[in-house]
Formats: sequence, structure tokens, C-alpha cells
Amino acid sequence: MISEEMMALGKKRSVIREIFEYGKIRAGEIGRENVFDFSLGNPNVPPPDCVKEAILDLVNTEDSVTLHGYTSAQGDARVRQAIADYINATYGTQVDADNLYMTAGAAASLSICLKALAVPGDEFIAFTPFFPEYRVFTEAAGGKLVVVPSREGDFQIDIPKFAEALTERTKAVIVNSPNNPSGVVLSEDNIRQLCDVMREKEAQFGHPIYLITDEPYRELVYEGVSVPYLLNYYDNTFVCYSFSKSLSLPGERIGYVLVSNKMEAERDVYAAVCGAGRALGYVCAPSLFQQVAARCVGQTSDISVYKKNRDLLYNQLTSFGFDCVKPAGAFYLFVKSMEPDANAFCERAKQYELLLVPGDDFGCPGYVRISYCVSTEQILRAMPAFEKLAKAYKA
Ligand code: PLP
Repeated sequence: MISEEMMALGKKRSVIREIFEYGKIRAGEIGRENVFDFSLGNPNVPPPDCVKEAILDLVNTEDSVTLHGYTSAQGDARVRQAIADYINATYGTQVDADNLYMTAGAAASLSICLKALAVPGDEFIAFTPFFPEYRVFTEAAGGKLVVVPSREGDFQIDIPKFAEALTERTKAVIVNSPNNPSGVVLSEDNIRQLCDVMREKEAQFGHPIYLITDEPYRELVYEGVSVPYLLNYYDNTFVCYSFSKSLSLPGERIGYVLVSNKMEAERDVYAAVCGAGRALGYVCAPSLFQQVAARCVGQTSDISVYKKNRDLLYNQLTSFGFDCVKPAGAFYLFVKSMEPDANAFCERAKQYELLLVPGDDFGCPGYVRISYCVSTEQILRAMPAFEKLAKAYKA
């Protein structure tokens, strides 16, 4: 007997991967340049120069154990200190190496936090639209995902709805800003209200309610929009960070969990994070890339390309009649489907070789996600197809 649950998970391919695979087949049939694949969030902008320089320098100067050997389970102490120093200098916090646990990307960071917290019966709140893997990771940790719809129109957290959803069983709340798939950045005011409600409910229920902030897109913001650092707003906070997007290194699997130094029973919670990393087999994040992260922390890929793509797509698509919130960050546009069923809309888009992702798995039926971490040329080539698609619905 094998686990039915895991088998079902393995057989149900992610919708995004499914579309991406279709795109590859179609490219073989009609040529890559004729397929407009907007499915994956795979950064197309190269890493900043410091990444290559760090890799070359490390490979040329360090011994093989430093480069490729095991580090401490929670990550190399000097790497963690370098990242802690950066965080403190940037956000005015007072964390140190022992608040950090290096991981294989945000997916591992989230899985570790959820595993560290969940006991049977626990509920974890996420807001629409949300990264579909939250459900997978939460259920794998033994928790239940409770979905709270965000405000129509701007996708900020609907505070009254959130307050209603918090119960005695709520263990943690997951936020993701800048957001995948909407690109929305939560305002400081919205965050303050969220934290106020959480503190009130903590007092009412007499136990901590943790805030898990999933931030792989923290640095990917446009026009100087600021992304509040949640450690400064709420004490019981975990930061799940990844270098996948900021340094364009998604395949290298490197990120961290930060346990706030102000968290209640902080040392025990950190121990639970270490225990969860151990139980999940996530000890010792990739060694070479821990070192690269320590040297490049604070640098970002050239996000001007994403901004150009965002402006181009947003301006053109809205002029064709598409409806969406202008994203302030990340590299996604979350557009209203032109018919109620977003899956049917995506099928119709395929007739114009446009590969879009239905919003259903993000908890938002009736929307589609367009990833614009693609070449600007692809966007320009795809414009007539978007225009034809919009016209097909007006006809
Ligand atoms: N969280 C969000 C919101 C994401 O969009 C992604 C990846 O796209 C992840 C987590 C996982 O990131 P990583 O590649 O660092 O595991």
C-alpha cells in the first residue's frame, strides 16, 4: 500500500506546469516564436553580476568542503550572520544568525514553518488570490487551509471578513505581498489593521496567532512602492524568504526562514523550525548558494525589464477592454476573464496561441494570470493575439 493522498497529489499535475508542458509541445509544432507562453513565474532577467562574480571567486578560492560540504543543519553561521546584518541595516531590526534557518527556497521555508506549528485541528488562513501550493503545504503539515476572500477591486485584505474567520483554532495567517498572482502590495494601513485584529484575537483566545509572510517578491516593486517589513509590525512573525526571484536563481533552491527575535518563546519556536527542517529532510540548504546569497544579499536582478513589460501589457490590455488591478510588484497581471469560466477563457486564448493560467487554483475563479517575466519581444508579438481575443468576446 502506498499513500493514496500522495499518489493523488502526484497524479494531479499543477495547472501551471500542465500549460507550460503544452507550450513546449506547441512550440515544436509551430515554432517557439509563435507561441505566447505567459504561464510560468520563471525569471527571464539574468542574475545581477555579483552572482557570477561570487560563484567564480568562491570556486577559485575556497576549498571543496566549504564549497560543497555539509554546513550546519540550519545553515552556515557566517552566512546567517551576513544575512542578519543586512536585514538589520535595511529594516532597523535586531535579529541575529540564530533567528535564521537557511532553506531550499520559499517552498521549503513555508513547509518548515507550517510543520513547526501545526498540530491536529489547526487552521491556517490565506487570502485570495493565493499561491496554490499553500493548500498542499498546509495539508501536508496536518493543518487546514481557511481561505478568506480579499476586497473586490483592489485585493487588499478585507479586515471585517478576516476578523470573522479567525477562530480558537487559527494557528497562523499567511500573507504574500507583493502577491502572486495579482502583483498587489498590501498597504501599510491594511497591514496595521491586520496586525491589530490578530493581537486582539490573541488576547481573546489566550494563545499566539502567528503571521507567516511569504516574500519571494519583496524587492520586485515599481515606482518606489514600499513593502512594510512585518517584523516591525507584529512580534509573532516568520519571514519566508527566497532568492529565487530577487537574484533570478529559482533552480538553485536557496532562501531562509526568519523567526522574529521578538516572538513569544522564540527559542522554542526556532527549535521547532530546526526540528521541522530535520523531519522534512530539509537540513543544510545548498552550500555553494548559501555563500553566494551571503555575498549578494540586497542586490537584485534588473527589474526595469519587468516594469517595462508591466507597463506595456497593462496599458495595451486595458485599452483592448481587459480589466485588472495595476500591479505594484512581482511580475504577474491578474486579469478578469471575459467569460465567467476562466478555464473556458484560457482554452479560447489557446486558439490565439496565448497560454494563460486560470485563477481557480489561486482561489479566484473568473480571473486569469499572465506572467510577464518574459522577453519584451514576446509581449510585443503577442499583442495582436490579445487584441483578437478581446474582439472575439465583443463580437
Ligand atoms: N511563494 C510564492 C508566492 C511564489 O510565487 C513562489 C514561487 O513562485 C514560492 C513561494 C516558491 O518559491 P521558491 O522557488 O523559492 O521555492
